[in-house]
Amino acid sequence: MPNTYLRGSGPDYGSVLSSTRRRRRRRRRGPNLPLLILALILLIFAVVFIIGRMRGDGPKPDKESSLAADASAESTAPEETEPETTVPALETLLAQADRLAMMYDYDAAIEMIQSDPEAAESEEGKAAVAKYEETKGTLVRQDISKITHVFFHTLIMDTSKAFDGDKRQDGYNDVMTTKDEFMKMMQAMYERGFVLVRLHDIAYEVDDTENGGKKMVAGDIMLPEGKKAVVISQDDVCYYEYMEGDGFASRIVIDENNKPRCEMIMDDGHVEVGAFDMVPLLDDFVDEHPDFSYRGSKGVVAVTGYNGVFGYRTDTAYEETNPNIAADREMVTKIAQCLRDDGWEIASHSWGHRNYGKISMSELQEDNGKWQDRVGSIVGGTDILIFPFGADVADWHPYKTDNERFMYLWRSGFRYFCNVDSAEFFVQKGNDFLRQGRRNLDGYRLWQDMTVKNRTSDLFNAEEIFDKSRPTPVPDYNGG
Ligand SMILES: [Zn+2]
Repeated sequence: MPNTYLRGSGPDYGSVLSSTRRRRRRRRRGPNLPLLILALILLIFAVVFIIGRMRGDGPKPDKESSLAADASAESTAPEETEPETTVPALETLLAQADRLAMMYDYDAAIEMIQSDPEAAESEEGKAAVAKYEETKGTLVRQDISKITHVFFHTLIMDTSKAFDGDKRQDGYNDVMTTKDEFMKMMQAMYERGFVLVRLHDIAYEVDDTENGGKKMVAGDIMLPEGKKAVVISQDDVCYYEYMEGDGFASRIVIDENNKPRCEMIMDDGHVEVGAFDMVPLLDDFVDEHPDFSYRGSKGVVAVTGYNGVFGYRTDTAYEETNPNIAADREMVTKIAQCLRDDGWEIASHSWGHRNYGKISMSELQEDNGKWQDRVGSIVGGTDILIFPFGADVADWHPYKTDNERFMYLWRSGFRYFCNVDSAEFFVQKGNDFLRQGRRNLDGYRLWQDMTVKNRTSDLFNAEEIFDKSRPTPVPDYNGG
């Protein structure tokens, strides 16, 4: 779209300028008296006419439409050619198509070139289409049972504040990951051929034509040989009150390019906007390495509700204390849409960070009801549930319809269920759900990798990742 706009407006604008210049030149040419008088009379008429218009008889043409009228009148002029503006437009279009292809969307890349007659006819366009067609023929369908899923909590930006010896230190050391560790992990996984996919890429619902209703079918994730799909998620993206002053971001914001960023309160009290957590850090990483993302996929962002969402105190509990609650709720809705547009999925992590496997059935219903009412209503709902503490509502056997908890959650709209499991792969596709185990890549895991048993050697070398600023040994705090 933007290319046709660029190509169209360039030469037209030039023609308006050159025709104005020509008119001026003609006026200066006549030095003789009768012509001067004639010009004076014409000028008086013109002034009267202009004053009449300014008094408001009839709508004044705005600047743009008068430019357009001039341009169309001039468009048949033979000397107006468009050699300089078309080349960048074609280059831009081919670069955009190439980015789509780098993200493995070869069909969209080909479509983009072929829907533009000029690009389709160009040598570069033809070569690009041929290259994409060839690569498409070599793609391998991913076995969805061999897709791993890794997860994080809010990333530690300032280790000196998180590991300052206070009562929170052990918890942070155990279940959190530092920014340096996260970036090294992403780089290592990228180098090993991992590619981010959405849960909805692994499996999705379609109409069940035989039995009515819907059914879950395996997705067709097509990647080049050697590439491996991975899902990444982040829990508790709420910037809880207790984390204040401990070296984390304070909330998610939307920047002037409509991209998600984070705010962080600096030592001197001023607020800085930047890549202060997983969402913007991964965004920037994918910007630099488009081939780390399958068709723009990023990850899953899981939120509770008791402290509000994304760092905004939106819960009804804040109605008395947060004077901006209405605006904050609107902002959360905008951020949720911004995240989705940017390739992220949003999940429930329960309202009160409750153990859905252990609490009573009525407590479970009450908690999920609160999430739907106070969080789902402003983030736009979800069909993904990420169990707090990784505590599932059943053992590893596929969910059955006699499981009251599962049936309640399913009726509530959930189709994707994620627990915590240190196995490399745990993917279970039922007829009407997808269940996946997730691996915690945190201080506890890295320390266990280095001292007891290494469970992450498929992803990276834990020794190279482990942040030396962590207090050791990393305790088994058992958070979640
Ligand atoms: Zn959690």
